Amino acid sequence: MTYAAPLRDMIFTLEEIAGIGEIATLPGYADATPDLVQTVLDEAGKFAAGVLAPLNRTSDQQGSRLENGVVRTPDGFRDAYAQFVAAGWNSLQFDPEHGGQGLPWALAAAIQEMVTSACMSFSLCPLLTQGAVELLGSHGSAAQKRTYLTKLVSGEWCGTMNLTEPQAGSDVGALRTRAVKDGDRYRITGQKIFITFGEHDMAENIVHMVLARTPGAPPGVKGISLFIVPKFLVGPDGALTDRNDLRCVALERKMGIHGSPTAVMAYGDNGGAIGELVGEENRGIEYMFTMMNTARLSVGIEGLAIAERAYQQARDYARTRIQGRAVDGSDVSAVPIIRHPDVRRMLMTMRAQIEAMRALVAFVAGSVDRAKRHPDSAERARHQTTVDLLTPVAKAWCTDTGCVVTSTAVQIHGGLGFIESTGAAQHFRDARIAPIYEGTNGIQAIDLVSRKLARDGGAGMRELIAAMRMTVEAAKSGGEGQFLATHLGEAIGQLAVATDSLAAVVKRDRTTALAVASPYLALVGTVAGGWLLVKAALAARRRRSDAADNDGYLAAKESIARFYAANLLPQAGGLAAMVLSGGDSALTLTEDQF
Ligand SMILES: Cc1cc2nc3c(=O)[nH]c(=O)nc-3n(C[C@H](O)[C@H](O)[C@H](O)COP(=O)(O)OP(=O)(O)OC[C@H]3O[C@@H](n4cnc5c(N)ncnc54)[C@H](O)[C@@H]3O)c2cc1C
Repeated sequence: MTYAAPLRDMIFTLEEIAGIGEIATLPGYADATPDLVQTVLDEAGKFAAGVLAPLNRTSDQQGSRLENGVVRTPDGFRDAYAQFVAAGWNSLQFDPEHGGQGLPWALAAAIQEMVTSACMSFSLCPLLTQGAVELLGSHGSAAQKRTYLTKLVSGEWCGTMNLTEPQAGSDVGALRTRAVKDGDRYRITGQKIFITFGEHDMAENIVHMVLARTPGAPPGVKGISLFIVPKFLVGPDGALTDRNDLRCVALERKMGIHGSPTAVMAYGDNGGAIGELVGEENRGIEYMFTMMNTARLSVGIEGLAIAERAYQQARDYARTRIQGRAVDGSDVSAVPIIRHPDVRRMLMTMRAQIEAMRALVAFVAGSVDRAKRHPDSAERARHQTTVDLLTPVAKAWCTDTGCVVTSTAVQIHGGLGFIESTGAAQHFRDARIAPIYEGTNGIQAIDLVSRKLARDGGAGMRELIAAMRMTVEAAKSGGEGQFLATHLGEAIGQLAVATDSLAAVVKRDRTTALAVASPYLALVGTVAGGWLLVKAALAARRRRSDAADNDGYLAAKESIARFYAANLLPQAGGLAAMVLSGGDSALTLTEDQF
């Protein structure tokens, strides 16, 4: 049940798919030299494997506990978090003006993968802080930045996101938490549910970012404001003062991520929690959107990360579990199950899905860096379109695929996969939340179709398809490349037809279009994953012609692309057919007929 960071594939993917070399030439990213990237990845790999990975199992068994109003995280979390902060892992991608290290998001994404693979429950704490940092960095006043940002960037204080209420889940606009002006501050009252790390013992202060409604605010999302509501109030000198009027009233019992406290939070039981308005009233949702892309990408990374952890465990098990004879009769004694073709197929499928997800995440993270830092505004806008289009895909496709891969890992373990002591079941349970939070995957698909595709009639997606076709041309250089070019070309053609059709349907019949939004998102993810694996295979071949491939890594990269093209890309045909003609039939039963 150990974990080793897949450093070789991470570096290759950063170089060939994210283009970290080019990113390092953008203003502000000059520090991201190859040596530094290598060192950061090596050190993070050691930290993840040595400090965090051992906590995964014990934290699942122990869980976080609420004792007399205090949340105790699992044994080892406090100490690991102190080390995490001291080593600077919290501040990697944040602005140096507030104590961050200003490194590219593409690199931070690889580190996030390691931390999450090692212990997903633990990883959620810095993930939520990241959201608070982005919100305050973009919309906080100078005083708010001075008071909160440096401590959040370093990780000395943690952040949370408080959107959800019992009646307001996907429909955030239904929230009722109230904020009433009291001098230059506000008094917050209401209840929030499902708040990740809403209360815990890992940091001296917790800065809650709370969405609430002021009296007389317009209904729905247009009447929501954003507030900073710290657990301990902060004096003018930056020292902590009074305990604010907020508390954790319960922790949820959950299917997975037991180490992560999921809190029911009560605000204002004793007169109102003191909150500071961020920006202007009624613009809270707009502010939330600024951090949504990176938050969603980070949750997509969870799908990838947990899949990688499950794969490593399943692979090791398949090498040691002796069962059955070799199908070709080559061995008279019983063999490890990794020799059986069906087990090989499962491992190969997992590996191909994981490498496709890693490539997609790296591609989107690299686009985030270019959209932020490219000196040419037209280029920034072009990369932002890619980020906007592919973020819901990275979130939903990677987290759905994460569930599939962790399920396959259970299958490889046979009966022991279903038995908790093996640990395979934990990965499967932990992975299941990622398609639900940070906007359910259904909501991601709606975002992709009704906002991203509809707003430009599919132009952004067509531009991406044109880039994919260039890879097909590059692959047509004969031999193996021809095979990849044929399969990828066919899948891209299916994506293009489905895109044209859906871009037209969404304009005239939104209901039918949204009934096939999820298959369309899966189609985009499947084809984009295949595209990036073919790109990786072409790069691997180029590298092989320049230097020896002693450990066979580069040759494997080509084999993985071939496997994906032959076994996973054909799904594109079925998904495209669903997009073209599946919508009407999904809506034929009346509600009573279910
Ligand atoms: C472990 C955990 C941690 C969480 N952490 C946080 C946190 O830190 N902060 C926070 O604010 N929230 C958090 N959440 C809440 C989470 O974001 C919500 O659960 C999620 O947004 C879905 O809301 P809901 O549960 O009310 O489901 P609902 O909105 O009731 O959705 C139920 C189903 O209906 C579908 N659906 C709903 N509306 C539509 C629509 N308009 N069109 C199509 N389909 C629709 C959904 O896709 C879903 O399949 C957490 C939840 C969990 C379980």
